[in-house]
Amino acid sequence: MVIKALVIKTEDSGENGSKVTLLTEDSGTLVAKATGGKKVTSSYFRSLQLLTYSEFYLTESHGFYIITDARLIYSFFDLSTRVEDFALASYFTELCKTAFTGEQGENEAFRLCLVALISLLKETFPPRHIKAVFELRFLSIIGFEPLYGSCFACGKELIDVSCGGETEDGAAFFNTEEVGAVCRSCSALLPSKRALIPASKALLKAIAYSAAAPVDKVFSFKTDSETEKLLAQIAETVVLEHIEIRPKSLKVYKDLTVIQ
Ligand SMILES: [Zn+2]
Repeated sequence: MVIKALVIKTEDSGENGSKVTLLTEDSGTLVAKATGGKKVTSSYFRSLQLLTYSEFYLTESHGFYIITDARLIYSFFDLSTRVEDFALASYFTELCKTAFTGEQGENEAFRLCLVALISLLKETFPPRHIKAVFELRFLSIIGFEPLYGSCFACGKELIDVSCGGETEDGAAFFNTEEVGAVCRSCSALLPSKRALIPASKALLKAIAYSAAAPVDKVFSFKTDSETEKLLAQIAETVVLEHIEIRPKSLKVYKDLTVIQ
């Protein structure tokens, strides 16, 4: 069996062996043993390092997967030496694990994860930006695409994303429970104001881009710092409301970033 996968955990196993947990492109996660993988002479040694993306050649023996060979495609190993980036990378892979449905076909969450890791490694954008955009796109992938172009209650247009122009004068909110924008008039009628975050057109556009831009370009936009802050708040709140796990890696990341 040949699979493309990212190493998300490594452990020692036996004298010279190691055991790796692989986040695969199209088969969820699996654990595989690599006998002799700790020997530096081993041709596939680098592929067994944490956060490397490789093509793995596997055989099955007595219910275990054994790695017979591997071809390195891209190494994100350097992220594992940067504590906060590693925590964030772990959060991405933890979310990605939950998105696997068992169906064949293109795994957009996996591709998003790779693009996020590249951005993080190359420091193309600040980690907070990468995290927020990842979370919003992840929501779309798992079926909670935010409604950003018009009010979810009355349908009034709030931004015209199709032409990139602006047709309505701001004054909207984003409701994290409904995962959608709501106009000022309708927001006044909502029973709870708890989930409302003021949403400028810049914020709605940032949400729109994160949710729908091509995955390989999804992180490529800049916005002002207030918008970035609100984007981060919305993204994390909505993700935590719509996934069934409490990601341990997110807590680690937040603990690390609070210390600074
Ligand atoms: Zn409305």
